[in-house]
Amino acid sequence: MIAAEHIDLMGLDRAGCEALAAELGFKPFHGRNLFKWIHKHGVVELERMTDLSKALRERLAQCSHVRLPRAAEEQPSADGTIKWVLELADGQRVETVYIPEERRSTLCVSSQVGCALDCSFCATARQGFNRNLDVGEIIGQVWFATRKLGRPPTNIVMMGMGEPLANFDAVVQAMDIMQDDFAYMLAKTRVTLSTSGIVPNIHRLAEVSDVSLAVSLHAPDNALRDELVPINRKYPLEQLIPACRAYLRGEKRRRVTWEYVMLDGVNDSDRHAKALIRLLEGTPSKVNLIPFNPFAGSGYSTSPAERIEAFRLRLLRSGLVTTTRKTRGDQIAAACGQLVGRVQDRSRRSVVVPLDRASLTR
Ligand code: SAH
Repeated sequence: MIAAEHIDLMGLDRAGCEALAAELGFKPFHGRNLFKWIHKHGVVELERMTDLSKALRERLAQCSHVRLPRAAEEQPSADGTIKWVLELADGQRVETVYIPEERRSTLCVSSQVGCALDCSFCATARQGFNRNLDVGEIIGQVWFATRKLGRPPTNIVMMGMGEPLANFDAVVQAMDIMQDDFAYMLAKTRVTLSTSGIVPNIHRLAEVSDVSLAVSLHAPDNALRDELVPINRKYPLEQLIPACRAYLRGEKRRRVTWEYVMLDGVNDSDRHAKALIRLLEGTPSKVNLIPFNPFAGSGYSTSPAERIEAFRLRLLRSGLVTTTRKTRGDQIAAACGQLVGRVQDRSRRSVVVPLDRASLTR
């Protein structure tokens, strides 16, 4: 019996709210109204939900609460980028970053505290894995930013801390709420999940979702990718590429975005460009070159701008749509996916994470 426990309403999707209303003895549409109050109107106080009957509000007050994230830090940048460090109920912290552009605005959302995947160039990896976020903590980031900004972002990318496909159910449910007409109303093309390539879960995602897929490729062959993105040892390119192609079979999923971090002298030569072109042949693709954001002790440096441009032109000439990610939020070290500043590691000691993985980009 749900009503016996204390439920976090932030973590319920529309069907969950309807089921809760039914369980409390009310018509399901009251549950839909509850959902709409929270996500469309941003109202979490039961007494302000004026179209819910008093009896239902009383029952809800007994069995539920709404857990909100708390902003531990808010850092705006001159270019309009805002980074929030959000503190969760247990004191853990994650980052959410807002990136306004001329005709759109993107919110970069975290899915885990830390990350287990250990990519060699990623600062979050240095923190290790702490825990998964639950649905309420994921959608809570969107709720929070929407309230702060006065409107929902036009785009959401699951490119913050963590590996979204390693927290599958919660991420899928939160992405459903992002797309719900009674909540944030984002078209599926405007919600992007970025993964390092957990192949079985790319197949699972194809079954349940139509969101845009971005894949952190970073290398055109297994030997190099094994080193940069170690999950490749488990799910090598000959499994990853077909899984992504299979994902595109859905009508709304037009192409895969391949993220490719530009590491000086590591993956940025003409030879790598040629191998990449061969690898992606026949797969509807867009390549997004990401200038590496250096951080202390990373052991890597960013490819020079001319190298990145030469690499981009090489791909373009072969017919691959290729963009270079623009650096954003420099002043505030607004690094998507990177916890900046004081965070807690697994042993709950307070540690300082390198402060300078500094860009957020388009
Ligand atoms: N776990 C997901 C989301 C991660 S963050 C994934 O792997 O896709 C989003 C992107 O930032 C990924 O492509 C990731 O590889 C990239 N990234 C991580 N650290 C970086 C760094 N220091 N410089 C540039 N890009 C980085």
